[in-house]
Parts: sequence; structure tokens; C-alpha cells
Amino acid sequence: MALAAGFCDVSLDATAVTVNGVKTFKTVAAMQRTALGWRQAGLRIGFVPTMGFLHDGHMSLVREARRRVGATGRVVLSIYVNPTQFAPTEDLAKYPRDLKRDYALCREEGVDAVFLPSDAAMYPGKAGGLYSTYVVEERLTQGMEGVSRPTHFRGVTTVVAKLFNCVLPDVAVFGAKDWQQAAVIRRMSTDLNFPLKVIVAPTRREPDGLAMSSRNTYLGPEERSQALVLSESIAACRRAVAKGPAPAADLKKAVARLVKTRPAARLDYVEFFHPETLEPTREVRRGTQMALAVFVGKTRLIDNGRL
Ligand code: AMP
Repeated sequence: MALAAGFCDVSLDATAVTVNGVKTFKTVAAMQRTALGWRQAGLRIGFVPTMGFLHDGHMSLVREARRRVGATGRVVLSIYVNPTQFAPTEDLAKYPRDLKRDYALCREEGVDAVFLPSDAAMYPGKAGGLYSTYVVEERLTQGMEGVSRPTHFRGVTTVVAKLFNCVLPDVAVFGAKDWQQAAVIRRMSTDLNFPLKVIVAPTRREPDGLAMSSRNTYLGPEERSQALVLSESIAACRRAVAKGPAPAADLKKAVARLVKTRPAARLDYVEFFHPETLEPTREVRRGTQMALAVFVGKTRLIDNGRL
């Protein structure tokens, strides 16, 4: 992988390279050794896992991690487009990448280290068919994204567990934007006794309400405007339940009707559920969580909110 050519010097710490002013670990051993050293020195580690193509949603997680570990702590951001969470029909090959910009944002935000592993580092032996261990959460993954993307969460829990073992964080910060994912990771972390705290930080939005997402870059101008139907659906349901409880079936129909008014948009799912257990609810009221997935053109977008 070509990394910001022309600005890549070996730092004093022989295990890390400094890329555009940000310490970078590319091997698991280097990341682990450094993280262990930090922990032994009493420094707290805050961790933000990402797939790169960073935006202010990601950077808000970095700011939250910094708040949690303090000025003397270490904030690590990983950039890894994890192949096991993409189905063969999905956008792995064309997932947007811009390491140069990512590094500029990391430096600006005071990220202490980027963990930038290769596929071979993350999945040893996979090319030779030897890799054979996965982490599966069996309950919270059953609905919504787990239905539309049946192999997705196995990839997510596996890679996040592995990243936890590499970065050894005290605190890991995830975005509410991926509400189900955050719930699944919190469950996995508790179930597998990871010695860390999982924090979920609020969804950052563009001024017009569109949730920030690396995938927004796929949208053409007309699609970008029709993509507002996700946040508008949440706002419409919020207005509806402000007047009193409503049957989920009615609200689902209303959302389907609203999405149909945008020719480029196609509803994948809309669900109303308990914010923590993710249990679907028939009667929607204030405090119910809502999530939806909508294809806008070929781009699949998700959003969610508390009603
Ligand atoms: P990704 O790079 O899409 O895998 O996202 C990495 C992390 O950033 C995940 O914890 C996401 O939930 C979080 N994230 C993505 N978009 C947003 C957003 N708009 N606001 C807050 N967090 C976000």
C-alpha cells in the first residue's frame, strides 16, 4: 500500500513508522508491544476502530476517546477495511479510501497512533485456508442488519475482538450511527470478559440532517438530496409518537409511503425496538428506538434514532 509518498520516516521506536506526523503500527506485534508498554507505564488507552475515509463522525469518537483517557492517555485509531464483514456482493473492492486525508485529520485531532494492519496481519494463514476462528454473537444479531446482511456481524465481532487484542484499550468508542453494531459489541465485550469499557457516542449529521457516512461519497447530487428520506422518516415518526403511542405496523407503512415518494430510494427495512435489548415492539412510544436501511440508487444507507 503506498502511504503518503515522501513523508515516511522511521521513528526512534523501531516498531513504528511515522506517517505524516502520526505514529503508525502496521504489525500486530508492534501494536501489542507498544500498548503493553503504555499500560505498564500507567497510561490509559482509548481506541476508535474505523474503516477509514474519515469524517467528523469518526473524529467525534476520537474527541470522546480523548475526553475519556485525558491528555496523558493514548488515543489509537485503527484503519482497516475488514473483508470478513462484507458479503461477496457488497462494496469491499470499491470501499472509499484516502489515507492521506485520514492522516491529516488524525494529526489535526491529536490521534497518538494509527493501527494500520494488513489482511495478512489480521487473518494469519487465511490465504492458505488455515484461518478458522470467528466470534459470533447469537441474539442481538438476529434482526435488522443481521437479516439483510447475514454474514456481516460475524465479521464485525471477529475483527473487533481481534482489534481489542491488538490495541489493548481501556476504553473503546463506537458510534450510535450503527446502533445495532454498538449493542452487539457491548454484548460481546461483556460476554467474553474484555477488560475495557465500551462507549457509544452520538451520531454526527450534516447540517441538513443526513447522518455522516463514508458511503455518502457514493451518492450523486440527486441521490444525495433523496437520501434525506432517512432522517426525515425518523423525524416523522418522532412527531407521530409525540402525540401518543402508535402501532409499529402503522408507522412502518407510513415510512414505506414516505420512502416511495423518492424515486431513487428503496426501503430495505424499518424497525421499532427496545434501545438496549433490540426487542421489536408492536406499540411505539417515546423512548422506543427506530432504525432503517434504505437503498438510494445502489448505495445502502442506515440511520436510527430515539423517538
Ligand atoms: P466505519 O468506518 O463506518 O466502520 O465506522 C467506524 C466507527 O465510526 C463506528 O463506530 C461507527 O458507528 C462510527 N460512525 C460512523 N459514522 C458516524 C457518525 N455519523 N456519527 C458518529 N459515529 C459514526
